[in-house]
Amino acid sequence: MPDSHTYLQQVLQDLGLNLQAFAGSDCTIRAPRDGAVLAHLKWCGAAQAQAQIANAQRASQTWRNVPAPVRGDLVRRLGELLRRHKAALGALVSLEAGKITAEGLGEVQEMIDICDFAVGLSRQLHGLTIASERPGHRMMETWHPMGVVGIISAFNFPVAVWSWNAALALVCGNAIVWKPSEKTPLTAIACQHLLLQAMAAFNADRPGTVPEGLSQLLIGGRELGELLAASAQVAVVSATGSTRMGRQVAVKVAERFGRAILELGGNNAMIVTPTADLELAARAITFAAVGTAGQRCTTLRRLIVHESVADALLARLAAIYGSIAIGDPLTDGTLVGPLIDRAAFDAMQQALAQARAEGGQVLGGERVREDLGQEAWYVRPALVQMPQQSAVVQHETFAPILYVLRYDGDTDMAIALQNAVPQGLSSAIFTQSLMDAERFMSAAGSDCGIANVNIGTSGAEIGGAFGGEKETGGGRESGSDAWKGYMRRATNTINYSGALPLAQGVRFDV
Ligand code: NAD
Repeated sequence: MPDSHTYLQQVLQDLGLNLQAFAGSDCTIRAPRDGAVLAHLKWCGAAQAQAQIANAQRASQTWRNVPAPVRGDLVRRLGELLRRHKAALGALVSLEAGKITAEGLGEVQEMIDICDFAVGLSRQLHGLTIASERPGHRMMETWHPMGVVGIISAFNFPVAVWSWNAALALVCGNAIVWKPSEKTPLTAIACQHLLLQAMAAFNADRPGTVPEGLSQLLIGGRELGELLAASAQVAVVSATGSTRMGRQVAVKVAERFGRAILELGGNNAMIVTPTADLELAARAITFAAVGTAGQRCTTLRRLIVHESVADALLARLAAIYGSIAIGDPLTDGTLVGPLIDRAAFDAMQQALAQARAEGGQVLGGERVREDLGQEAWYVRPALVQMPQQSAVVQHETFAPILYVLRYDGDTDMAIALQNAVPQGLSSAIFTQSLMDAERFMSAAGSDCGIANVNIGTSGAEIGGAFGGEKETGGGRESGSDAWKGYMRRATNTINYSGALPLAQGVRFDV
């Protein structure tokens, strides 16, 4: 197994990145794979953060006047740099967030994909033409930049979530200010470094087009997130993280009538009906429940399985869980890497104790691979059969715990069980019945932002709008028309009649 520190040096060299400017003693960054110290960094102070936000605000006033397709060219250049450095940035994600190699690379691929999407979008920020009720009048909608978009991100998708927001916000004509997770600042420094390179190359070809300060990075703790949420200079706050965080950010942003895009916790379920292809379901369940060591917002946390197929499916899952490769995320063949830190391990053990107290039967969940480091927290994913959807099942524990609930009624009963939690991010049904599948996707079906058929709950493509309802926050990011969240809409009415007719037939003769 390569030494984390040496590995980091190789990655930084590939990226042409020197961490010296960020060195300090405010925080220590460790590699989850072995607990090794990667860096000691300084945090950004409040006054400096305010100055950076003001800088971004100034930059936004220039950037908004650059034609959108030209703005797209900047994001195209970022995408090219990401292609060139995919292996190094992916490895840095694995090193800092503990993701297996394929998932680290997958995250960077997602960044490349959203850049491509945003470049196309830069020529399609369309408004509508609307029929006017008045003669000689035309109505239309135009879309304009908001100003500064603040991005608060979580540790578990340290780079992809930024790119979803940054690529769209930039083509939509905004400046960006990013407050990454305090657990994963190195990947953020690397992304900012690549974007600054793209900007420099862009300005070399089109002098003065990208204003200084267009993209700002704030390294530090939650206080900086609070500062972004409270700042009247930040028109949009896109916050990804726990429901606890979102509840605080939502209030702060609402108090000043700002716009919030909230991407918060999930408690995702899969329904397995009597007609399901069980082998397909077992494979989908495994990826969704144990992938990224259960640390995805879309991780499968609840399996709602029909009594008639439950024993067969559980036997298959128990066999898979018993043989799954857990270990160093940078080693080929590993499927489950470490938890992010000790606090995540403690939270998992607490949840398992609560599940036992609520009548659950727990398989797995114990610490493994202590040989990889005292401060490396690997666990065997847990399968927990629950007698009912009790308190622990209704709560998102950010670890690989899959609660299994059986149902013996019709599919409506399973859907009701699925919807009876506070969160509403992702959901899935495995079935060969067209009627069950359609019912699941109907108005009376899943209440989540994502409702899949014969696919697991995680691993969404960037082309669709991503996000969820209820305590997941209601925000949408990435594809479809999520770009509208980064722009303001103006309705324009143009009178070319020479008369002044009023709407609704109102007469006001002067
Ligand atoms: P977290 O809420 O602890 O932290 C997320 C970010 O919010 C960090 O940058 C943190 O510094 C900041 N923050 C914390 N409190 C804040 C406050 N009061 N005001 C402003 N900023 C604050 O989350 P985490 O542990 O990093 O990530 C895991 C959580 O994120 C899970 O709940 C997961 O479901 C969720 N998540 C959701 C999505 C989604 O798209 N819905 C995606 C990824 C992660």
